[in-house]
Amino acid sequence: MNWEVASRPSPGVLNRTVLMTGSGTDALYQQRIKIYPRSVKGRFRTFKWGVLGFAYSVYFLLPWLRWERNVGPDQAVLFDIAGRKFYLFDLVVYAQDLFWLTGILLIAALLLFFVTGIAGRVFCGYFCFQTLWTDLYMLIERLTQGDRVARIRLDKAPWSANKLLRKGATHLLWLLAAFWTGLTFTLYWGNAPELVVAWFTGSAPFAAYATTLFLTATTYVMAGLAREQVCTYMCPYARFQSAMFDADTRIVAYDVQRGEGGQGRRKVTRELKSREQRQQQGVGDCIDCGFCVQVCPTGIDIRDGLQVQCISCALCIDACDTIMDSLGWGQGLIRYTSEKQAAGKESRIWKPRTIAYGVALLAAIGALAWSVSNKAPLEMTVVQVRQPLFVRLSDGRIQNSYELHLENKTDEPIDLAIMMHGLAGAELDVGRFGALLLPAQHSLRVRVRVRWRSSHGEKGSRSFFLDVVPQRRKDLGMYSAPATFYLPGDGN
Ligand code: SF4
Ligand code: SF4
Repeated sequence: MNWEVASRPSPGVLNRTVLMTGSGTDALYQQRIKIYPRSVKGRFRTFKWGVLGFAYSVYFLLPWLRWERNVGPDQAVLFDIAGRKFYLFDLVVYAQDLFWLTGILLIAALLLFFVTGIAGRVFCGYFCFQTLWTDLYMLIERLTQGDRVARIRLDKAPWSANKLLRKGATHLLWLLAAFWTGLTFTLYWGNAPELVVAWFTGSAPFAAYATTLFLTATTYVMAGLAREQVCTYMCPYARFQSAMFDADTRIVAYDVQRGEGGQGRRKVTRELKSREQRQQQGVGDCIDCGFCVQVCPTGIDIRDGLQVQCISCALCIDACDTIMDSLGWGQGLIRYTSEKQAAGKESRIWKPRTIAYGVALLAAIGALAWSVSNKAPLEMTVVQVRQPLFVRLSDGRIQNSYELHLENKTDEPIDLAIMMHGLAGAELDVGRFGALLLPAQHSLRVRVRVRWRSSHGEKGSRSFFLDVVPQRRKDLGMYSAPATFYLPGDGN
């Protein structure tokens, strides 16, 4: 089975390419044709370097950033699995707050839908990890083996000391980049300065070695060896993008009418040198130089229309703009445009669907921001002890037991009193925890007992509340949690 482009573009119409399977061959997999992307300069390439520089600075430097806290580690971003806390600058995320993660994932999905509906696969082209790391790996390749032509020559040449040295240097630098990527990820899960020393002295936990080596291997394979195959065959986002595209979505597209004219594209010859000559003969502006194809990291020809392999990186725009500038014919033969614009129709960015995504996105961001800024300083959960559910005491009273889980999410210790209400005449036994000092950012489990004599022989269960009352921090208010008191009878 192989993929092939169904049709060539017709002038004046953006060709939304249909991909077909099978062409009379029974091969199960398409053979990979190695791509040798050529370097290019231009505004989109510059922007992509900027995004790469920013993303790498954040990723590689963040574990080393120190952060002053009253309580807790001095690392700005740290995922403390053992302590079940995530430190994000001044925000401490507890295990109970992990529903925020759902909010973050929802925001990410809505942002993706919103942006993709407007500007196509810009996430793929500029911000995706695969793109960012592949760009770095290609840069290494260029530095060690040269640009496109030199790399093709080197691959064709027989093995020699020079080839061995260049290929060896490439793979060594790739492995180093992959290793530092994996190690940096690991450093987010522990105190970075200590963990890095422990890693190299053999005293780090097994998980640190396993994580680092796993990410080293995946980075090396994905960015160094698999590259565009990840985008074309493995990434699910590439598969469902078409559902988010419409005729107003900005995509990287070749202006077929301008490029092909009436007679198609032609190379520059003595008779077809100036634009006027070409226009007189009905020939388009595309000089068939192939620069746009040579720079494409996925190896496709944008002149064949929109293809599933296109990650919208816009490097073909830079390439073609360079050619058009050199000829003085005006940029934009390849450009960001929409299907409607390309067909000369009016195109809208703000459509009901885009607005709906935007509103949903703002609502999700607002809800998450509200939830984070209003997070409770104290958390209490009550679990009924069910083995046994109740005990009849020698004095005839019934006793139920409960386990309170208390978590102080503030930077200061809080002294607490445990109380109850809603069950008249009941006695609360908190054992040795009469007055409770809960240290800052700590949690505690407390076993309490409630004893009650039912004066009217009630059966079944009664609801009441267990309370914790901060003693000196009146501003924190009282925390109550519902509980159930079980009595003998009625199936209990
Ligand atoms: S066709 Fe152009 S925009 Fe699409 S992946 Fe290739 S270079 Fe990038
Ligand atoms: S870079 Fe521009 S002129 Fe050259 S082949 Fe591509 S579209 Fe044609």
